[in-house]
Amino acid sequence: MPRQEITGKTNKKILCTVLIPVYNEQYNIEPLITRVNEVFDKLADVAVEIFFVDDGSTDASLAVIKKFAVNYESIKYISFSRNFGHEFATTAGLDFARGDIVILIDADLQDPPEIIPAMIEKWREGFNVVYARRSVRHGESLYKKLTSWIFYRLLNKLAEIKIPLDTGDFRLMDRNVVDSLKHCRERNRFVRGMVAWVGFNQTDITYDRAARLSGETKYSFWKLLVLSIDAILGFSHLPLHLVSIFGIITTVFSLFIALLVVMHKLFFGLQIQGYALVATGLFSFFGFITFLLGIIGMYIGRMYTQLQMRPLYIVKESHGIDQL
Ligand code: UDP
Ligand code: MG
Repeated sequence: MPRQEITGKTNKKILCTVLIPVYNEQYNIEPLITRVNEVFDKLADVAVEIFFVDDGSTDASLAVIKKFAVNYESIKYISFSRNFGHEFATTAGLDFARGDIVILIDADLQDPPEIIPAMIEKWREGFNVVYARRSVRHGESLYKKLTSWIFYRLLNKLAEIKIPLDTGDFRLMDRNVVDSLKHCRERNRFVRGMVAWVGFNQTDITYDRAARLSGETKYSFWKLLVLSIDAILGFSHLPLHLVSIFGIITTVFSLFIALLVVMHKLFFGLQIQGYALVATGLFSFFGFITFLLGIIGMYIGRMYTQLQMRPLYIVKESHGIDQL
C-alpha cells in the first residue's frame, strides 16, 4: 500500500523536514539550500521545510540563515545560546521538526542531497529509517577512515544493539521513529545508536561521500574519542562485566599463589625469596585496579550528569517554529 494512504494524506503533500545542524558553516549554507531546493523542485508530491539548528556558531552562519529565512517561508531555524555539540543540535532538530519524514544531513555538503529522492522511495516501500551508507569517502584522511572502521566494528562487538557499519548521520527517519527518539533524553548522547535502538524497519542505500565543500571538520581527535566512549558506555555494560571478570581471574590467581607459598613452606621449610616480584606485582595490580575504578567512575559520572536533569540545550532565538 502506498505510504500516503497509510498516513491518510492521499490528497495532501507529504512534508519532509531537511534537518541541518550547523556550526560555523557560513560558506556552505547557500550552496546547500540551492541544492536541496533543486531536489525538491522535482518532487511534486513532497513539500519541504529546511530546518537549520545553529549550534552556537561564532562566524556569520546565523546571519546567512536569517537572510534566507526572511525570504523563504520554507526555511526555519533555531539558534542555541552556545555550542552544545552536534548530537544536541540533532536532538533539538528532531524535537521541533514538523515533517512526516525527517532527513538529517550535514551542512558541509559531504552528503549529497541528490540521493534524497531514492531515500524517499525506500520510505514509500515501507521502511521507517533509510540510512545512507558510504561506499567511498573522499577528502578524509586515512587515519580518520581507519579509526572509524575500527570504531564501528568494535562497537558492534561490544554493544547490545547493531549499529549499521559505515553510516554517518545522513538518514531518513519517519514520524514514528522521530517521536520515539523524542522520548530518549539521555545526556551522553549517541544519536546513531539511539536510532538503531528504537527499531522499526531499517534499510540503507549506498553513496559516495564527498569532501567538505568549505571549512574544516569540527570533530577533533578528542571529540571523536569522547563520542566513541559515549557510544560504548551508552549501549553496553560489557566494560563493567570485564571488571568483574578481571576480579575473578585475579582472585583465582592469588589463591593459587597462596597455595604455592604454603606448600613450599611445608615441604621445603623455606621462605620464598621474591621481594622484587611482590613489589612489581603489587604496583601493576594497583595501577590496573585504579584503571578499573576509572571505568566504574565513568558510569557514575554519567549517572550524575543525568540526575542533574539540566536541559539538553538552550535556545536563544528561533524563526518559523510552532512552539518552544
Ligand atoms: N556540527 C554541529 N556542532 C558541532 C560540530 C559540528 O552542529 O559542535 C555540525 C557541522 O556544522 C556539520 C555536522 O555537524 O553540519 C557534521 O560536522 P563535521 O562535518 O565537522 O563532521 P565530519 O563530517 O567531519 O564527521
Ligand atoms: Mg563533514
